[in-house]
Amino acid sequence: MYRSNGNYEAFARPRKPEGADDKTVWLVGGGLAAMAAAIFMIRDGQVAGERITILEELGLPGGALDGIKYPEKGFVIRGGRELEDHMECLWDMFRSIPSLEIEGASVLDEFYWLNKDDPNVSLCRVTEKQGQDAHTNKLFTLSEKAQKEIVAVILATREEMEGKRIDEVFGDDFLGSNFWLYWRTMFAFEEWHSALEMKLYLHRFMHHIGGLPDLSALKFTKYNQYESLVLPMRKFLDDHGVQFRFHHTVTDIQFDIEDGRIQATRIDWIADGEPGGVDLGPDDLCLATIGSLTENSGNGDQHTAPELKTGPAPAWDLWKRIAEKSPAFGRPEVFCSDIDKTKWESATVTTVDERIPKYIEKICKRDPFSGKVVTGGIVTAKDSAWLMSWTVNRQPHFKAQKPNEIVVWVYGLFVETPGDYVKKPMQECTGEEIAQEWLYHLGVPVEDIAELAASAAKTVPVMMPYVTSFFMPRRAGDRPQVVPEGSVNFAFLGQFAETTRDTIFTTEYSVRTAMEATYQLLDVERGVPEVFNSTYDIRYLLKATARLRDGEAVHIPGPNFLQGRLLDKLDNTQMGELLTDFGLIPAHGATVPRPRDDDAIA
Ligand SMILES: Cc1cc2nc3c(=O)[nH]c(=O)nc-3n(C[C@H](O)[C@H](O)[C@H](O)COP(=O)(O)OP(=O)(O)OC[C@H]3O[C@@H](n4cnc5c(N)ncnc54)[C@H](O)[C@@H]3O)c2cc1C
Repeated sequence: MYRSNGNYEAFARPRKPEGADDKTVWLVGGGLAAMAAAIFMIRDGQVAGERITILEELGLPGGALDGIKYPEKGFVIRGGRELEDHMECLWDMFRSIPSLEIEGASVLDEFYWLNKDDPNVSLCRVTEKQGQDAHTNKLFTLSEKAQKEIVAVILATREEMEGKRIDEVFGDDFLGSNFWLYWRTMFAFEEWHSALEMKLYLHRFMHHIGGLPDLSALKFTKYNQYESLVLPMRKFLDDHGVQFRFHHTVTDIQFDIEDGRIQATRIDWIADGEPGGVDLGPDDLCLATIGSLTENSGNGDQHTAPELKTGPAPAWDLWKRIAEKSPAFGRPEVFCSDIDKTKWESATVTTVDERIPKYIEKICKRDPFSGKVVTGGIVTAKDSAWLMSWTVNRQPHFKAQKPNEIVVWVYGLFVETPGDYVKKPMQECTGEEIAQEWLYHLGVPVEDIAELAASAAKTVPVMMPYVTSFFMPRRAGDRPQVVPEGSVNFAFLGQFAETTRDTIFTTEYSVRTAMEATYQLLDVERGVPEVFNSTYDIRYLLKATARLRDGEAVHIPGPNFLQGRLLDKLDNTQMGELLTDFGLIPAHGATVPRPRDDDAIA
């Protein structure tokens, strides 16, 4: 396998790999990673779909990529996916999956057209004092010291960041800045999380620094991701004869490991209470999703707080059993052993009439019933004790919604702190109580809150014990390679398999591992698209630097006439022109920023 950039590789079609007709494929887990692997096996590996089987413990596909209506409880989305244009493997896949909405279009076409016509932007990113715009004015408020810390993290080697927490590499200035507020609430980082992951995120999303404060960096699907992404993938796989075996919990995978050669020899499972399994030869490929951020999710309802499930967790237990067999299979305990540090909770509020939406409209300055962008990403109540954020995507968010309903996603980063209105930790609250706390921060008059939470909305909270497990401080080797060295028929998939430079907690990461696994195991003759290179592009670096400084030029020391001469001289160089044009050196005489028509990122 190799990685590549550009159209030559992107549009070329690989020939059928040798031996593709002899392969069978067993995929453990039915989430995005496994479904993507099945798609790449069919499209690029040209393996017949009938020879591919997906083993899933639950009764439906999609894993974390959810969206469901429970008959009694109501609508539930555990999360909403912030997507961007540079999800190279994801879009490479969805260009080949027919849309279920628009005849003749792909899922990518549908998404592209939607976001062209109705681009995402937030008109109020942060509130305070019960629903007042906090007027963060797109500023990052990073002091010189905080900026230097960011630069130090970017310049540090991976090894220097290994095993460190974010609050070990950033001080109070940084942690008190708007930048950290936007960043942590958008990506769900806590101060105890991995400094290495923070570094990788800074590199990975360098091109989006400017779009963070108003979320113009983001794009969203038409409906929830189960309906907009999972169902089209399912249809494609069904049409190609792929078999889904639901209610199959994989309990172990056996291996022959000898002289550096690794071959999976058997998959063991429990199906409907009965043990079963399949023996594997070298032509039987096994690709296993390990760990899961939504494993053991506990749903509450309007009148019940969600359960925090700390017992057996098949996704983690499977990885632990596999990991015992070779040091090359990673160290799951690093990620799954401290639920208090990896849990958080979200809630889905469905409003049932116009009483609550009018408060939403006041904040986001858009009609929630318009069918177009509403909040434009999350709104954070910065003075909320739970550090609560909420979002209203384009409505309806579910096809089954009634015209008067609005589906809202709410989450809190601090689930153990008593709320400002309900005075209870989020994790102890029923759906109704969470709605009360949200309505308080929405600016609903205190005397109306109880009534509205009870009669104008239905709320389902979900506790996710492992949702940020991949952000735990880690070291090289904690995550196994997608295809461990010497493996002939086995690969790891998903958020806990290691692929270089890309960042976890993204759909892209899961799809990337699927593509890399498929291309390696089948020896597909096409490059896997590189992670977008913005961190190596001087223009993006300068643009990001200017934004991180809130547009303030760098101070040039010395007397005025010397400064002027230096600036004029600098501006006559290629580098100096760039520095001027991105606003990093002050305007002086003829040295003023020019529109950068010659650059892609003017
Ligand atoms: C709250 C939340 C917000 C998110 N926000 C974003 C975002 O903004 N942008 C973005 O790009 N991504 C986001 N994501 C991440 C994205 O949804 C996930 O990374 C991705 O869907 C993970 O897919 P996966 O297939 O790797 O793993 P999973 O979805 O975890 O799938 C694993 C599957 O394997 C099954 N399984 C586990 N163990 C076994 C076993 N032993 N036997 C059989 N089956 C098993 C599970 O039931 C599950 O279906 C978010 C996720 C959540 C939960």
